[in-house]
Amino acid sequence: MKSDVIIIGAGAAGLMCAIEAGKLGRPVIILDHASKIGQKILVSGGGRCNFTNLNIQAENYISANPHFCKSALARFTPQDFIALVKKHRISYNEKEDGQMFCNGSSRQIVDMLLDECNSASVRIRLNCKIQEITKNRKFIIKTNSGVIESESLVVATGGLSYPNLGATGFGHSIAAQFGLRIISPGPALVPFTFSRGDRERFAEISGVSLKAVVKCGGHEFKGEILFTHRGLSGPAILQSSSYWENGKEILINLLPDIDAHSIFLSNRQSRVEMKNLLSRYLPKRFAHKWCEFYLPSKPLCQYNDKELLNASRFVHGWIIKPAGTEGYGTAEVTRGGVDTGELSSKTMEAKKGQGLYFIGEVVDVTGHLGGYNFHWAWASGWAAGQYA
Ligand SMILES: Cc1cc2nc3c(=O)[nH]c(=O)nc-3n(C[C@H](O)[C@H](O)[C@H](O)COP(=O)(O)OP(=O)(O)OC[C@H]3O[C@@H](n4cnc5c(N)ncnc54)[C@H](O)[C@@H]3O)c2cc1C
Repeated sequence: MKSDVIIIGAGAAGLMCAIEAGKLGRPVIILDHASKIGQKILVSGGGRCNFTNLNIQAENYISANPHFCKSALARFTPQDFIALVKKHRISYNEKEDGQMFCNGSSRQIVDMLLDECNSASVRIRLNCKIQEITKNRKFIIKTNSGVIESESLVVATGGLSYPNLGATGFGHSIAAQFGLRIISPGPALVPFTFSRGDRERFAEISGVSLKAVVKCGGHEFKGEILFTHRGLSGPAILQSSSYWENGKEILINLLPDIDAHSIFLSNRQSRVEMKNLLSRYLPKRFAHKWCEFYLPSKPLCQYNDKELLNASRFVHGWIIKPAGTEGYGTAEVTRGGVDTGELSSKTMEAKKGQGLYFIGEVVDVTGHLGGYNFHWAWASGWAAGQYA
């Protein structure tokens, strides 16, 4: 069998690329080893798919080359995706910070992409196991259901996160096969695990959440942090995990909007205990547990100046050393991937292998939480679709 374009991966990036290449009249076949298309889209955003963000900027992406994503993001904008959503009469809403969600279900986004694929005569082959890829003049892809020849091969196999939804390292292997460098992958947007001591310390407050600022690797994120039975999660923690390196500490400002020192000073004649004073600003269970381990909870009037200053510093800069992360099993994305230095930022084509393209999460471009990762998938897929 022959086709102009073969795309491996029927996820967000692969589907968008197929639609664009198909619209330009190129015969396109998508191959996927899974039995369903767009599995991550279906589970995304708590079932409502946070499909883009109105405030997309290169600063929202992590990459060894922070400029690489700019060209694709400039050519396919959040408004372009929203126009597609509107065309399919999918109702949506903006949550905080420009995050765009379906009002109904993520399934609507998958159906929309499938509809567009049908209109562009894209063929999709599911349950397709790829056994070998070689290249002479053309790409020859051996699969469990026959051999396919194509001029262009687009790798849209995503990262290593959520193997139960079909994720594999196949894209990285294809890159290695064609001599492309890989930036070492790692789980990102992932909960931290506590050391054994911290796990025991905070076991009783599993389920408690509070608003904080988390600093990690020179970046800081404001938002909820959540105590889990294994460690810490919540948006601010997930964001900071993308910048975390093994063995490093994170710093948590527990009262980002309040000056703890002023509160302590204005209560310094009082007989109120530190843990009860902090409970006015933080969840009570947390404040009590935290004081038990970090601050002697005596009446405020018994603290001296130095102790009050130290206590406030600690409230604004609680240092934790995570034992690790929960890993790929619960990581929303994979950081690292195909080195952008190997690809054209205009076309996503590998500089070394004519006709070989990499798009979406398999590339070393990792978005923040909030619709940025889907938008990279759409934008890079759109860019490759114009040329593949
Ligand atoms: C639980 C969860 C929630 C998320 N929520 C959001 C959100 O709300 N907003 C957001 O922006 N991002 C979200 N993300 C991230 C987002 O889903 C990904 O960044 C995005 O799906 C990447 O698109 P992709 O097309 O590159 O890869 P994927 O969507 O992962 O698609 C890759 C495809 O390749 C196929 N494949 C893999 N290996 C092989 C192989 N060996 N042979 C054949 N096919 C193969 C897979 O089956 C899959 O269909 C979420 C991720 C998870 C896990």
